[in-house]
Amino acid sequence: MLIAIDGPAGAGKSTVARAVADALGFTYLDSGAMYRCVALAELRGAEEPLRCAIELANGRATLDGEDVTDAIRTPEVSELASRVAARPEVRAHLVALQRAMIATGDYVAEGRDIGTVVAPDAELKVFLTASAHERARRRAEQTGGDAEQVLREQEGRDARDSGREHSPLQPASDALHVDTTGLSIDEVAQQIVRLAQAVR
Ligand code: C5P
Repeated sequence: MLIAIDGPAGAGKSTVARAVADALGFTYLDSGAMYRCVALAELRGAEEPLRCAIELANGRATLDGEDVTDAIRTPEVSELASRVAARPEVRAHLVALQRAMIATGDYVAEGRDIGTVVAPDAELKVFLTASAHERARRRAEQTGGDAEQVLREQEGRDARDSGREHSPLQPASDALHVDTTGLSIDEVAQQIVRLAQAVR
């Protein structure tokens, strides 16, 4: 079974997806971490970033065998990730890797295009949103950054993710929309777990 959770940065996707995966005993796939790995490879000057080996396992990300779990979370990587993600060859490469991973078992996969492109047949699709201010506040809390600065960077990434030609961020027509503004992440996760149990 596959649960697809898509939405913009800071909507609560990672926390919700992890909680749902834990509750159901599914594997969690953070597809954004893969775009971040490609961006990091490029920042480090790799000649062919797509030839670098990306592995996600047990909550850690490795790039050519090196643990880059923390290194892919810097603002520079966030910024470049949303740029490399607009390139069709990057998307094709990572979508193929993601499809191979989710074919191996039960997954909760989160990103921008899981329900629309990676797995249009997912049994359950959720599109998480929250107000721009709430999303920036959450991100700033996570990273220790300034909320206004995070909001400005987020606006740039949101515009790129939604406006790009290839696989723009958009809800699948059959996705359940959940606005997480003012909701606890636990409540949202429990709601998705109940839905997943109902469709299983
Ligand atoms: O989710 P996260 O913020 O870590 O993703 C980093 C960037 O990767 C996003 O801004 C987006 O441009 C890109 N991305 C994507 N498709 C996905 C996941 C992430 O384009 N499925």
